[in-house]
Amino acid sequence: MTTPDSLAAAAAKAPGATDPTARQFAGERPAFAPELLAPPPAFAPEAARRDVPALHRSVNGQPLVWLDNGATTHKPRQVIEAVAGFYGAGNSNIHRGAHTMAREATEAYEAGRAAVARFLGAASPDEIVFVRGTTEAVNLVAQSWGRANLGPGDDILVPVLEHHSNIVPWQLVAKETRARVVPVPLRPDGQIDLDAYADRLSVRTRLVALSQASNVLGTVPPVAEMTALAHRYRARVLVDGAQAVAHFPVDVRALDADFYVFSGHKLFAPTGIGALYAKPELLAAMAPWQGGGNMIESVSFDRTDYAPVPHRLEAGTGHIAGVVGLLAAVTWLTGFDREAVAAYEAGLLEHARQALAGVPGLDVIGDAPERIAVLAFTLAGHDPAAVAAWLDRDGIAVRAGHHCAQPALAHYGLDSAVRASLALYNTPEEVDRLAASLRRMQRSG
Ligand code: PLP
Repeated sequence: MTTPDSLAAAAAKAPGATDPTARQFAGERPAFAPELLAPPPAFAPEAARRDVPALHRSVNGQPLVWLDNGATTHKPRQVIEAVAGFYGAGNSNIHRGAHTMAREATEAYEAGRAAVARFLGAASPDEIVFVRGTTEAVNLVAQSWGRANLGPGDDILVPVLEHHSNIVPWQLVAKETRARVVPVPLRPDGQIDLDAYADRLSVRTRLVALSQASNVLGTVPPVAEMTALAHRYRARVLVDGAQAVAHFPVDVRALDADFYVFSGHKLFAPTGIGALYAKPELLAAMAPWQGGGNMIESVSFDRTDYAPVPHRLEAGTGHIAGVVGLLAAVTWLTGFDREAVAAYEAGLLEHARQALAGVPGLDVIGDAPERIAVLAFTLAGHDPAAVAAWLDRDGIAVRAGHHCAQPALAHYGLDSAVRASLALYNTPEEVDRLAASLRRMQRSG
């Protein structure tokens, strides 16, 4: 196996993460320009917090501490205003109107597509299909690409770490095509067992479906290396970026991903909007999975001709306001120095690990060296749901349950855990409130 990728390497490769000139100079710092020797400016969470109104409310009489970002993120006012502005003044259906507002809405929608393409490092907006979210994107690939390319005896490799959204669609299409879903086991620390992965890859492997960051353990697997290995067997690779996109820059071409999927709502954008990236040659061969308006060239009862991709895969009126919000969210997030944000989040994660280590009876699940700021844990003597309810009384929002990743929890002999998932707008003080509340719960018996 090649060596695992790292967040830093992924960040360095991502286009648009920082000013390219600065990056170029970073490698060859001239001694006569001392300002270039300075470390990159640190990210301060207040810069993000002040934009996000929901973070300033109180819950149960306490200032809100939102540590449920893995489930969904809160929205900056730039996103809220963009969506309100669209409905207030820009509202129109797209693509089929001859009037000014239809043209403006179409331009906004297509500007959103171009922004998502840039955000992911895709070569062209035509490689981006708008969908409701990660779940719909995976189902689209399973139903369109999968039905055409999977058959009896074919393998779909899926790490045990995956969210149900990246397991069940493959089970459905495997049943229809008589292919097999083959789990790739985890190591005790929550990393994918790369030796087992290499063993399971074979000429029968048609697809590897893996997430770039786990929603329950936070593990960031070496996706580029795993993809390169899969490609040696001519297998395709779908990368679930639902948890990754908000935490570090993504470059689908550096990953060499065949498909990449994410949800807007985990990226500070509205619910109900997300995107699928696919390599152009794959997209071009993908048959429609839903029929309707917007996806056709011409229709008659004798013959229907489809529109070119990506429109062929976007039947019906899309979530236009959602795309407007997604465009605003991507613009907001990329307005920060993302390497500085990733460094800040890594520090916050370390702070959280140390703070939680001081809580008697608390066990963090998984310990992968490369991870996003997500901590799942159990608290001795307390049911995870009771822990979440206790924290809620202190205004602290965490999630308890199986996190739609039952196989990953089963790996640890668990069916439920508490999860604190952090974002760029969370602070060390909030983490301290979490730890203090948990200590009080332990003292209360
Ligand atoms: N994949 C991962 C890793 C996730 O964390 C989630 C949601 O938690 C999903 C897929 C599904 O996302 P959505 O419900 O937005 O489609």
